Amino acid sequence: MTKYFKVCMFTCALFFMSISCTGPESSQPKNIILLIGDGMGLTQISSSYYYSDATPNFSRFKHIGLINTSASSHKITDSAAGATAFASGKKSYNGAIGVNSDTVSIPTILEIAEKINLSTGVVATSTITHATPACFYAHARSRGMYEEIARQLTISDVDFAAGAGLRHFTSRDDGANYYDSLSAKDVILDTTSLAAIEDICAECKYMYLDTGRAMPRMIDGRGDFLSDATRLGIDHLSRDEDGFFLMVEGSQIDWGGHANNEEYLTTELLDFDKVIGLALDFAERDGNTLVVVTADHETGGYALSSTPMDDGEWSDYNKVTGTFSTGGHTTTLIPVFAYGPGADKFSGIYENTEIFHKMLEASGW
Ligand code: MG
Ligand code: ZN
Repeated sequence: MTKYFKVCMFTCALFFMSISCTGPESSQPKNIILLIGDGMGLTQISSSYYYSDATPNFSRFKHIGLINTSASSHKITDSAAGATAFASGKKSYNGAIGVNSDTVSIPTILEIAEKINLSTGVVATSTITHATPACFYAHARSRGMYEEIARQLTISDVDFAAGAGLRHFTSRDDGANYYDSLSAKDVILDTTSLAAIEDICAECKYMYLDTGRAMPRMIDGRGDFLSDATRLGIDHLSRDEDGFFLMVEGSQIDWGGHANNEEYLTTELLDFDKVIGLALDFAERDGNTLVVVTADHETGGYALSSTPMDDGEWSDYNKVTGTFSTGGHTTTLIPVFAYGPGADKFSGIYENTEIFHKMLEASGW
């Protein structure tokens, strides 16, 4: 009986070990989806609780942290230094695209994923050559070098890209036309609407390059572009059995903040929240996906303030008014939300560069 019991214990232990090593709750994610709400501070996030009847998807996270976002050159970061910190784990100067303080190129998490044969993608509502997405696939001394950044995207291994900025590929000072050369290389290209997944072969690269100077604002009728592009990206990249890295940016939350335009800001924020929802839906089904949501910095010094009353002395605590303290960025700590295998690593208060290191530590890439 004792012997039988021991054998049984051993078998059971093996059984549970195999479950914990290979089951859907494994501690190393196969896929990482990084969602960046440009300019999305705590008040921007809070606004989704004031301006939406549904419970925002932020409420689905259990692991939450805060980051300090300063750049190497300035106390207040721009989006280039902010995204370089996330993509490459180094503090750099404002304007830096995937380079360190000495303008030397530093490897990005997207390139690290490509090196081990994973699939990769970038999605944005700005141009795809704008600072935030650029920092994941390009290296340039200045964020304004759009044509050079576009050139680097065409020679990168990025498997899926969607955003605006066709002109940086076709109407260039050097006369090159990357639309033609990419088509010749069997990259599937669209400029007016996103393809259906059935029309993208599993091994193919896909690029959607909108003709606009940016994607339209939500208040100008952008519709579901960001959700649709993210869904298409996940559908395409998840065909790779080895795993994928996808960065999606809600680029224009920042622009609403710069414009001190609350309607612009909150409509962009609620659009971004929908993307969080669909990324979490995928991660729940998949069981092997780490979702990280954060921002490079806050924009506008946005506050949900009590409204001054007529007497000027008292404020109405039942009437919330969006107010702004600057047309630029602020240095407030920024929330980080994580879901999936390795999500617990993202709790605490730390530097923005740690996002890179924690993603690598979690995934083992
Ligand atoms: Mg940006
Ligand atoms: Zn900005």
